[in-house]
Amino acid sequence: EATQAHLDRIAEVDGDVHAFLHVSDHALDVAGDIDRRRAAGETLGALAGVPLAIKDVLVTTDMPSTSGSKILEGYLSPFDATVVARSRAAGLVPLGKTNMDEFAMGSSTEHSAYGPTHNPWDLDRIPGGSGGGSAAAVAAFEAPLALGSDTGGSIRQPAHVTGTVGIKPTYGGVSRYGAIALASSLDQVGPVTRTVLDAGLLHDVIGGYDPNDSTSLADAWPSFAEAAREGARGDVLKGLKVGVIAELPDSGFQAGVSASFREALALMEAHGAEIVEISAPHFEYGVAAYYLVLPAEASSNLAKFDSVRFGLRVTPHANSTVEDVMAATREAGFGDEVKRRIILGTYALSAGYYDAYYGSAQKVRTLIQRDFDAAFTQVDVIATPSAPTTAFKLGEKIDDPLQMYLNDVTTIPANLAGVPGISVPSGLAAEDGLPVGIQFLAPAREDARLYRVGAALE
Ligand code: GLN
Repeated sequence: EATQAHLDRIAEVDGDVHAFLHVSDHALDVAGDIDRRRAAGETLGALAGVPLAIKDVLVTTDMPSTSGSKILEGYLSPFDATVVARSRAAGLVPLGKTNMDEFAMGSSTEHSAYGPTHNPWDLDRIPGGSGGGSAAAVAAFEAPLALGSDTGGSIRQPAHVTGTVGIKPTYGGVSRYGAIALASSLDQVGPVTRTVLDAGLLHDVIGGYDPNDSTSLADAWPSFAEAAREGARGDVLKGLKVGVIAELPDSGFQAGVSASFREALALMEAHGAEIVEISAPHFEYGVAAYYLVLPAEASSNLAKFDSVRFGLRVTPHANSTVEDVMAATREAGFGDEVKRRIILGTYALSAGYYDAYYGSAQKVRTLIQRDFDAAFTQVDVIATPSAPTTAFKLGEKIDDPLQMYLNDVTTIPANLAGVPGISVPSGLAAEDGLPVGIQFLAPAREDARLYRVGAALE
């Protein structure tokens, strides 16, 4: 019933929203099988039978995986990403694959090779990115739960602009195996949902050690669903020290975003939280460091799309050499933003420039990590607005990469430091009535703290 209802909803609204690149043609069979197992007396988990939308960056054996790129059009993976395999094992019903900026590069889903996704709150506006499809699917009630990936904000910023909940787990907390790599030292997979409890339930299913991911943490994690339940009923805000960053410039933040942020802090204070100003002097250099580290890693990760191993192959003429075929394939298969970042990355890594660019960026990354280490000796969580503005108009920033990159000023530092972050809805901006999110950051491995605080505010 739940699967049918969501397939009906997709049929009704996805022509306008375009959250999905592919809708499963056997979701009802999978759901029917779950029903039969339940009827036969099998004990199934809390999410058995619940439909799940999957960002197209995650590979699946039964549906194509394109990562939003023409170069992977029609690609079928021989294996499931670990998070997909674990979801299936828990009885979740994959509904389809969601739209995204090509190879997860972007903040608006306009860089998808398959056309943009529209924000369900206002179809003329962006749903955020790169995981705009997953966030829009959840916000438009096309799916109750979705999976996303967050390299610099691609779960949290779409959550902010669509009024949904998004979590970037601690680096290593959720397996990256089968997540088509953008920047391997920054990428994390996580939940996109309508409530903090839903996110915790999904995180409990997908998280934990995976021997197939060499950066997977072997920690025993607490139940994040339980943490969310504690937050919802308990007095977790009493005595909680919430850090706000002194150096975060007020300029660049839309008035309604700043106002919603201040209201959320006041609400927390009224419930016993202590708001503490902290210093994180390198936080604002995150964007600059990220746009060297990310292109460097991406240029290396995307080298495998060489026309031989995966997807598209373009043979320009009868006497083409291997180099001709590779160049023509990459020319035709990659979009402009992907090419821009490959060029930036190879330049930053080239002999003679490596120390000046990549080396410097790595040093800034360390300084940001130290800022966090110092801040978390004084506070339990750090709070920021999740992004500077509400959903902007489709087309508004597409020709201005720098403006697009600045969307991630508050989300990027968590990826550079490996710490977890959550975006939870904090209300609507007075000037445009669009959703706003508040972000909380916690020390690495303290994801449960974010579920408690997020659920308390909900
Ligand atoms: N918007 C950021 C970028 O363009 C973040 C992307 C992501 O998290 N995948 O790189």
